[in-house]
Amino acid sequence: MERIQMTTPLVEMDGDEMTRILWRMIKETLICPHVDIKTDYYDLSLLNRNATGDQVTVDAANATKALGVAVKCATITPNAQRMEEYPELTEMWKSPNGTIRSILDGTVFRAPITVNRIKPVVKNWHLPITIARHAYGDVYKSVDMVTDEPGTANLTFKGASGAMQTLTVAALDGPAVLQGMHNTETSIRSFARACFEYCIDTKQDLWFSTKDTISKVYDGRFKAIFEAEFEAYRARFDALGITYFYTLIDDAVARVIRSEGGFVWACKNYDGDVMSDMVSTAFGSLAMMTSVLVSPDGPVEYEAAHGTVTKHYYRHLKGEKTSTNPIATIFAWSGALRKRGELDGLDKLVEYANALEAASLETLEAGIMTKDLAGLVEDGGPVTPVDSETFLDEIANKLKGKLG
Ligand code: NAP
Ligand code: MG
Repeated sequence: MERIQMTTPLVEMDGDEMTRILWRMIKETLICPHVDIKTDYYDLSLLNRNATGDQVTVDAANATKALGVAVKCATITPNAQRMEEYPELTEMWKSPNGTIRSILDGTVFRAPITVNRIKPVVKNWHLPITIARHAYGDVYKSVDMVTDEPGTANLTFKGASGAMQTLTVAALDGPAVLQGMHNTETSIRSFARACFEYCIDTKQDLWFSTKDTISKVYDGRFKAIFEAEFEAYRARFDALGITYFYTLIDDAVARVIRSEGGFVWACKNYDGDVMSDMVSTAFGSLAMMTSVLVSPDGPVEYEAAHGTVTKHYYRHLKGEKTSTNPIATIFAWSGALRKRGELDGLDKLVEYANALEAASLETLEAGIMTKDLAGLVEDGGPVTPVDSETFLDEIANKLKGKLG
């Protein structure tokens, strides 16, 4: 059988532990037999980041800017315990995702992969709900203070021109806690544009919510910027029959629970942090969640939302066959290959990506699944829990049937 050819290379960021093992298995069993993959390869494993002084992460992010599409394996973000585990580390390297996000100035979209056999906790959610989290500023870049006597707290801005603005936060008659936070016009605009682009790409409605009835100026600015930015996208939204909808966060929460799903919910940083955990838990499993980083200039990076699954890796090292779920990593590859195909006009590559996703979902619907999912099926139908290797072989068989 002739393999599908690519024109532009895909930026491939390899990673750590169990997901690195799955990465190679996915390539060998599902991709390479059908696609002559062309990648610009970066090894983001912890030891290689250490050996290159983390330059490899910066190079991978810059390559994504240049080539437009990347696929990333989960990576270890070192902490104190990892410093002991890997004594050769010369530094506690920063999160690669943080480094990549700051270079691409992106917004993170988290979407669940849904199957009929596994029902969300919320019965009326028939379609996935994607959370778009603004990943800059607010309480995540704030300063705090505790005071122990009466006094006055002010908020002062001194402009580069020398102009000053001062507001009284509070006249305090006793000990208090204070916090100062900010966001930037540029970051909010990028966030808005990334949301509109993503919705056009995935043909879904966009919801955006803040608390602008209370935070009239701060959240009001978010609302106004989204409204202004939307003007440049309105015609394309109309052409696709999709809508942009703003509402108060309280109202959004109630509507989300009553909805059928099938839309993107843009959230401010804190709201997105909290709501993405709520939504992903309600849909079933972290192992079924994809994560896409969209830069306002166009580049896109696809990955699984979960980490390197350390516990399974140590079992794998002891020679055990693990039942680690590869679905989110497979969908990172299919998402990236589909995007590459669309950008380069390669219909065969797009068809392949669609077939890979369909084969994966049909395998799950047939009840062949990894152990993390097997326990979530409640329909009484057949379920066969399998190890990762058997699961991938089953998908490979279904895929051959579709492409052959
Ligand atoms: P994790 O790797 O997501 O795993 C947490 C637990 O969730 C696992 O022990 C496993 O539960 C379950 N799980 C997650 N993915 C699974 C899958 N594909 N199949 C089956 N079960 C799955 O999170 P972590 O243990 O907190 O972090 C491990 C490492 O990953 C850390 O070094 C962290 O820095 C890194 N991390 C990287 C990323 C990223 O690169 N995007 C994101 C998060 C964390 P059971 O053990 O009960 O089976
Ligand atoms: Mg959270």
